[in-house]
Amino acid sequence: VDGDEKELRAPICCILGHVDAGKTKLLDCIRGTHVQEREAGGITQQIGATYIPENIRDRTSLKAETAIKVPGLLVIDTPGHESFSKMRSRGLSMCDIAVVVVDITQGLEKQTIESLHLLRRHNVSFIVALNKVDRLYGWKECTNAPIVEALKKQSDDVKSEYKWRLTKVVTEFKENGFNTAPYYENNKKKKVVNIVPTSAESGEGVPDLLLLLVRWLPGIITDKLAYDDTVECTVLEVNEHKDLGTTVDVVLINGVLHQGDQVIVCTKQGPVTTIIRDLLTPHPMKELKAKGAYKHHKEVRAAQGVKIVARGLQYTMAGTSLIVVKPGDDLRQAEAAAMQEIDMAISTTDENEKGTTTQEVSSIVTSKEGIYVQASSVGTLEAIIAHLKSSSVDIPVYAWNLGPVYKQDVMKASAMLKRKEEYAVILAFDVKVMPEASALAAESGLKIITADTVYRLVNIYTEHIKGLKE
Ligand code: GDP
Ligand code: MG
Repeated sequence: VDGDEKELRAPICCILGHVDAGKTKLLDCIRGTHVQEREAGGITQQIGATYIPENIRDRTSLKAETAIKVPGLLVIDTPGHESFSKMRSRGLSMCDIAVVVVDITQGLEKQTIESLHLLRRHNVSFIVALNKVDRLYGWKECTNAPIVEALKKQSDDVKSEYKWRLTKVVTEFKENGFNTAPYYENNKKKKVVNIVPTSAESGEGVPDLLLLLVRWLPGIITDKLAYDDTVECTVLEVNEHKDLGTTVDVVLINGVLHQGDQVIVCTKQGPVTTIIRDLLTPHPMKELKAKGAYKHHKEVRAAQGVKIVARGLQYTMAGTSLIVVKPGDDLRQAEAAAMQEIDMAISTTDENEKGTTTQEVSSIVTSKEGIYVQASSVGTLEAIIAHLKSSSVDIPVYAWNLGPVYKQDVMKASAMLKRKEEYAVILAFDVKVMPEASALAAESGLKIITADTVYRLVNIYTEHIKGLKE
């Protein structure tokens, strides 16, 4: 590294936009994977982090001599449904750059606008992927071509439809206070937000998008990307893993994590000090949440998505920091810092664009009477509970747990059989139900509902209550 050239870490990039705009598909197109088709109901239910290594160059039609300043790109795909808005804001607070995906046939939608406000609030530079250009009537497919080339090949009809749809979107952005322009005509790139037309289906414009992400955007935020030894690390997810026990998925924003490091995590019960037993990453281009083989590491350098194996992680609050205690550091001081963060996480409310306020991640509110919810991760648990609380449904939650449904869960949930029968239910999402648990439930009259999307889960429950009332 040259004296005057700072070493840069991989930028952390968030993908935002309205549901069905094509966020996951676009990420799949970049990675050459097929996560979208495998998702239950086609919905992204957790935050995923993907590390895209430096060979990204091959996809950008960049000449070999053009330097890419960053070692790769860490992409975070966020769920787009309304009940996930807390997770979106959590994802954003750690992002350096973002892509807002807009469906060219739909224009700006409710969650697009919500995303724009979040970006402005967090002061994140972004580009717009104007996706699904292949849906323009009569579009001639030019697989993975740069967009200007692809546009040249289109008929006059397609070109004019493209023009008016683009103009409409630019106007909608203006109405929301953002100046935008197609990037190939944008001479004021720092002031005017770039629009890149893309197709996640056939790949037109994707090379252009990557080029802006790894070359142009890092170029305007180099200070933010300067590599720093001080560990900065945020917990994305808490997961119950059948072999590893409770693990946390974190985004390491800066610094290095080592096996054997003493760390502090924030839990509702207070700071928990533990030792990193193992550091796992998915293989490059695979998603952190995708189940499968992990790579073991002695150390991991930022920026990267990492799964941490350690004791005592069970009650870690998603969205909080993981603090490293270096030899010689004052443990009590570090714990006090964690405690401060815990207090903040519990008390902070998150202003939503709708004008309503939702409580921060940590405080899953439970009631004396309500149903029992069980999920594989805190993120999905929060999503289910947020959906249960939303105005149209409004179902109270009595208790919750992570991981497989055991007899103990059934026993606890059965308390409702005597109090309020309609709440004598366990909603189990993405977890196993142990045979003894289902046997006990059948015996005592407790209902266990499982489904592969949050929405179906809640629908089955509401149908079930209707059945009881009739
Ligand atoms: P997300 O909710 O934003 O993650 O959207 P998805 O990636 O799940 O995509 C929603 C739907 O739109 C899926 O059926 C995709 O196959 C489809 N889709 C996404 N991008 C494109 C595109 O560029 N062209 C076409 N024709 N369909 C797309
Ligand atoms: Mg998605």
